[in-house]
Amino acid sequence: MKIAVIGTGTVGVMSVLHFLKYIEKAEVTCIYNPKKKILGIGESSNVNLPHLLWDAANYNVFIDSKELSSTVKLGVKYRNWRENDFISPILPTHYAMHFDNFALSEKMFARAKKLYGKKFKVLNKDIKELKQNEKEVTILFTKGKATYDYVIDCRGYPDNYSNYHMITSLPINRAFVNLIPKPGDWDYTYHYAHKNGWMFGIPLTHRQGWGYLFNDKITTEQEAVDEINEIFKSNKTKKDLRDFNFKPYRSKQFLNNIIIKN
Ligand SMILES: Cc1cc2nc3c(=O)[nH]c(=O)nc-3n(C[C@H](O)[C@H](O)[C@H](O)COP(=O)(O)OP(=O)(O)OC[C@H]3O[C@@H](n4cnc5c(N)ncnc54)[C@H](O)[C@@H]3O)c2cc1C
Repeated sequence: MKIAVIGTGTVGVMSVLHFLKYIEKAEVTCIYNPKKKILGIGESSNVNLPHLLWDAANYNVFIDSKELSSTVKLGVKYRNWRENDFISPILPTHYAMHFDNFALSEKMFARAKKLYGKKFKVLNKDIKELKQNEKEVTILFTKGKATYDYVIDCRGYPDNYSNYHMITSLPINRAFVNLIPKPGDWDYTYHYAHKNGWMFGIPLTHRQGWGYLFNDKITTEQEAVDEINEIFKSNKTKKDLRDFNFKPYRSKQFLNNIIIKN
């Protein structure tokens, strides 16, 4: 069974490992355009990710932590949301992880090549269009084409949102990420309420990532930078922070016969 997974972001890597491990007859080709960058940010996972990485790629969050700068996540710590801070624990005996998703595809694909040999391939191509009939999907590249039995489309943000529901109730649309080059020594994700929204705090083995989330129609960039400096007792300007704009959305259609959006 020939499966193409499009994309090497977190979702593409998870899909590749899933099919290699759990579908015995699957031959998986991961196709991506290296010029189209992944959404790289230190991530906080759910409990499925460390399980999948262990089961499908023998990655152990504790022993192999150097590869992904990973740390164990045992829950979420809510700071400033109520009179007293509180922890929402992950139910034992499960755990999740924090990891550097810039490193995820390189490290996990190296493991997959060793474990699955010829069943796994990577192709660097830009995809123009997907066409399907009852039996197969044809992927049209800038030059050439290829056919597969299934396509798992993990291309991240769409170019246009006409086939998506836009989520209008989410009150934030912007993140300034403050990277601090010191290891994070806590084993939960911080969810820190602040004047203009909330902030996640992610500990990696080599750095901390603090994502200050706000709405730029309500809070100015300078107000956000000022509050970040107040919280961290720092003197940063906007150019010292990584800037993410995002629109919350959900696909209208996940399953389209043998093309599956993830
Ligand atoms: C500020 C912020 C904080 C976040 N924090 C977290 C978190 O803590 N935990 C969490 O789980 N999620 C978090 N997310 C969400 C998460 O980062 C994204 O949902 C996820 O990384 C998206 O991954 P992806 O694999 O879908 O797509 P992407 O990372 O965008 O990857 C897209 C891939 O598709 C390829 N591609 C695209 N178009 C083409 C084409 N035409 N031809 C060939 N290849 C193509 C690209 O080359 C790339 O490999 C956060 C998001 C933001 C904005």
